[in-house]
Amino acid sequence: MNVKHQFPLLQKYGDTLAYMDNAATTQKPQVVIDAMVNYYENTNANIHRSPHRLGADATAAYEGARETVRSFIHAKKVEEIVFTKGATEAVNLVVQSYVAQHIRAGDNVVISIMEHHANFVPWQILCEERNASLRIIPINEAGELDVSTLDDLLDERTKILAISHISNTLGTINPIKKIIKTAHKKNIPVLIDGAQSIAHRVVNVQDLDCDFFVFSGHKIFAPTGIGVLYAKENYLKNMRPYQYGGDMILSVTVNKTTFNRIPYRFEAGTPPIAEAIGLAKALDFVHSLGRENIKAYTSELLHYATEKLTQIEGLRIIGQAQDKTSILSFTLADIHPHDIATLLDQQGIAIRAGHHCTQPLMEHYGIAGTARASFTIYNTKAEIDKLAAALKEVIKMFA
Ligand code: PMP
Repeated sequence: MNVKHQFPLLQKYGDTLAYMDNAATTQKPQVVIDAMVNYYENTNANIHRSPHRLGADATAAYEGARETVRSFIHAKKVEEIVFTKGATEAVNLVVQSYVAQHIRAGDNVVISIMEHHANFVPWQILCEERNASLRIIPINEAGELDVSTLDDLLDERTKILAISHISNTLGTINPIKKIIKTAHKKNIPVLIDGAQSIAHRVVNVQDLDCDFFVFSGHKIFAPTGIGVLYAKENYLKNMRPYQYGGDMILSVTVNKTTFNRIPYRFEAGTPPIAEAIGLAKALDFVHSLGRENIKAYTSELLHYATEKLTQIEGLRIIGQAQDKTSILSFTLADIHPHDIATLLDQQGIAIRAGHHCTQPLMEHYGIAGTARASFTIYNTKAEIDKLAAALKEVIKMFA
């Protein structure tokens, strides 16, 4: 897509940088940076309680951002949108404020082997603390979930099913609508980790019928420090607060505190106001490009890159699901992924190497890590050619 010129960092480095670490974080377009600068230069004030013009403007901008998020993910009500620090905090919020409140010894939580640590460790610790069991949906060799195991894994003692929409390591797009339906037949709520899907697919939480959906702003061209928890109103209303302090209360006396209504009850303290405004601008930016266009463009990049890299001898792609997004994890002969990444960096190609916060998945494949190139709207086929050529050089160096 012809958007590179809208990203100042990419403009600055020009042809000397092929940034392919988008699954970790994306670059920020000028419009997002400008929106945040504009807020600080013209509107900066604390929100909700400031009895002056700037306070009212800042509040309107922050609450406007909440409405933009609602519309972007097609939530029914703006009250169902809670701003968090990111996907990680949003998962932890659901763990502490919802599941921890009613999980008992002998109960279970179901996740999958491909989960990011953000959607793995909080559940594992909770289960350990409560003598509950953590049940894991397995995958096949291609990196696709074995959904036939759900019948056995989900039962009347399952407190939640928490699953990623798209794997950050394999690129696998999970059949979440079908999975949600299966869980709901047994009255089990479902949390979707949308960290990787938010920028690449249309997300309609009402159509999916998920109970919780989490994502981080920084993976969709927005700033760091802002993320979202979507939760159905019925759940949110009955969840206890996550943190206590200012703004989440209705009244406080020496003897008693009553809590504010949702979603404010879950946003204790001064929130990341400029970041929320930046997020809204990023969502507008993505909306204007069109997610169907983004999907088509990045799918073509994935297809092209897969063909190019498959031709390299000794290169093994980890994650070959039928339904995949533009994430390409690979190993190269027995060269350490960190060596690959370092050598590529010397040629101006930024990729990621390691376990990608999915150590259980690495254990499953019996490898320490992979090299991972992840593509988005500003990547090009020419950059992929450069990547393929650079990888061939790496092999020569190690030969
Ligand atoms: N889930 C997935 C699938 C991710 O890719 C990531 C980030 N790599 C996270 C959760 C956590 O996101 P954050 O670090 O922004 O909270």
